[in-house]
Amino acid sequence: MAEPIDVSLLPDATTLLEDDVVVGGVSLRELAQTHGTPLFVYDEATLRARCAEAAGAFDDGIAFASKAFLCGAMARVAVQEGLCLDVATGGELDLALRAGVPASRIIMHGNNKSATELATAIEVGVHRVVVDNFDEIGRIGELVGAGARLDCLVRITPGVEAHTHEFIRTGQEDSKFGFSVAAGDARRAIEALSSLHGVRVHGVHSHIGSQILELDGFRETMAIVADFTRDDDFDELCVGGGLGVAYVAGERAPTITQWAQALRASAAAHGVDPGVRLTAEPGRAIVAQAALTLYRTGTRKRVVQRTYLAVDGGMSDNPRPVLYGSGYEAFDVARPLEPRPQAVRLVGKHCESGDVIIDEAWLPESTGSGDLVATPVTGAYGYAMASNYNRVPRPAVVFVRDGAPRVVLRRETFEDLVRLEA
Ligand SMILES: *Cc1c(COP(=O)(O)O)cnc(C)c1O
Repeated sequence: MAEPIDVSLLPDATTLLEDDVVVGGVSLRELAQTHGTPLFVYDEATLRARCAEAAGAFDDGIAFASKAFLCGAMARVAVQEGLCLDVATGGELDLALRAGVPASRIIMHGNNKSATELATAIEVGVHRVVVDNFDEIGRIGELVGAGARLDCLVRITPGVEAHTHEFIRTGQEDSKFGFSVAAGDARRAIEALSSLHGVRVHGVHSHIGSQILELDGFRETMAIVADFTRDDDFDELCVGGGLGVAYVAGERAPTITQWAQALRASAAAHGVDPGVRLTAEPGRAIVAQAALTLYRTGTRKRVVQRTYLAVDGGMSDNPRPVLYGSGYEAFDVARPLEPRPQAVRLVGKHCESGDVIIDEAWLPESTGSGDLVATPVTGAYGYAMASNYNRVPRPAVVFVRDGAPRVVLRRETFEDLVRLEA
């Protein structure tokens, strides 16, 4: 008999009742009734707590990696709690500016920034541009030649293989991101940028991957970065993001505070001046556990080997299982305290056999068609990677706080889906 859902996977102040689950003081059953399903529900207090924890654990300039989940409301929460916002495309930059984020709190990333993206970032005066490649240095040369000024970090590849999925590993030598330390490119990039009038190189940036649950790779990276920058007069070292979260019972992830402590200890042990700002860009660790997705179950089909239970969403609102084989848990919102002895394959409504949300989900014995099922820890790279595959409208996103829900992204309509037709 599988245990009831582990509350440590749920947003901070979640209460399991006999026949309902309350998040941020709001009933999930009522939310589903009012706003329909699928529905992303974010607990704003959890979001704010993670942002504040990160802002306190690192130095000023620490950013939320917005690609994990970005909308105007999220951008404002991150900035109000003391974080900068890290953007990697013109679209993310545009949204941040529209949301009222001051350019001085924005960090511009990208391995293939277009001339326009780069020029816009410099023109609005972002806090930092993270420079990725020599082509970009050429473009920066032209822009500052015409009088622009720029504060930057240089993205380096430290040559560390993070213990995570190959598709989300970025610190190794064979990577499309950054300048190689080992090949000497990182040093050449720093020299080239430093020679440009109007450009100030504040330090280096590294990012070794995502969903990393062990701190060793981060410590190792810090040692390499410390060594590499020993003779530079830098005032900032940014270690990127990548701190993992627990998605299923039994998984353990370090806290943001523990992550920062490990990095600071490693920096100190390798002789980094304590006056150098230590910054980072967590994405997943800020938003993942703050949210869950509500689905209504439909078709229940028993085949020889197993039972399939289909929900009203799928790979269009959570592509991570398809992309990375990621695991999730599920629970029945009306029976959260019951044991979960029933194994089902929780699938979506898309025309693909691979449209599986949970390969083996454990649910109460009586959960069947028409029930409200939730998958926790869907706050990162869910809505952000959502698509309209099969012309499925994207779900709404609701923030709950102090007993009150507010829709921060309304549900897409069929009208929205045809608005691009010429
Ligand atoms: C994706 C990314 C992040 C955030 O990664 P998480 O795993 O969500 O923390 C931070 N920095 C860079 C450069 C990234 O590409």
